[in-house]
Amino acid sequence: MVRLFYLEGMSKNLFPPENTLPRSAKEKLLNQQGKAIWMTGLSGSGKTTIALALEKALHEKGVLTQVLDGDGIRGGINNNLGFSEPDRMENIRRIAEVAKLFVQCGVVTICCFVSPTKIIRSKAKEIIGASDFVEVYVNTPLELCEQRDVKGLYAKARKGEIADFTGINSPFEAPDTPNIELFTDKNPVAACVEEILQKIV
Ligand code: ADP
Repeated sequence: MVRLFYLEGMSKNLFPPENTLPRSAKEKLLNQQGKAIWMTGLSGSGKTTIALALEKALHEKGVLTQVLDGDGIRGGINNNLGFSEPDRMENIRRIAEVAKLFVQCGVVTICCFVSPTKIIRSKAKEIIGASDFVEVYVNTPLELCEQRDVKGLYAKARKGEIADFTGINSPFEAPDTPNIELFTDKNPVAACVEEILQKIV
């Protein structure tokens, strides 16, 4: 009871709404709108490659961006989480909360996470806010991802050295109605980036 009262008092005293600089002021300063570009797809599908090329293209247009990437986040803020179902949910919850902070600052935030299930992606969308959330499905066939095997993880998963590896021994649920769907088996990186730019700029 006492603790609750203390927290309520704290939030009232520290963040009175009339003193809070609104998001619109930050967006005006940057001359852009905050958005989360949420890239979902199998490991090796091309999320990071496309995100980095997209970030460069947006930078050249004078847009401030931030890339949030699975490996970076798992090595830092989420380094205490594994790949069990509850840990995957907590991983996404924290990522979405971080993305939301950037978006509300007016930054175009490109999130590269396998985010394999509909429930995980809908959780991220709920936290970030539907109007700020652009779902990009990097639709690359499993065989091609496995052939690329950028990090050697598919080989390990096939040997049984990795439990719960998405696409091999853990499911990937494709989004039903993504805002953007990219086919990296047919289109080069630059074309995928152009497709995103056409939709968001
Ligand atoms: P993810 O982030 O989804 O795990 P990466 O971006 O790390 O995937 O790896 C994708 C690999 O596929 C890279 O080696 C990249 O060069 C290659 N690749 C080939 N064609 C494409 C394409 N059209 N889009 C994205 N990546 C591609």
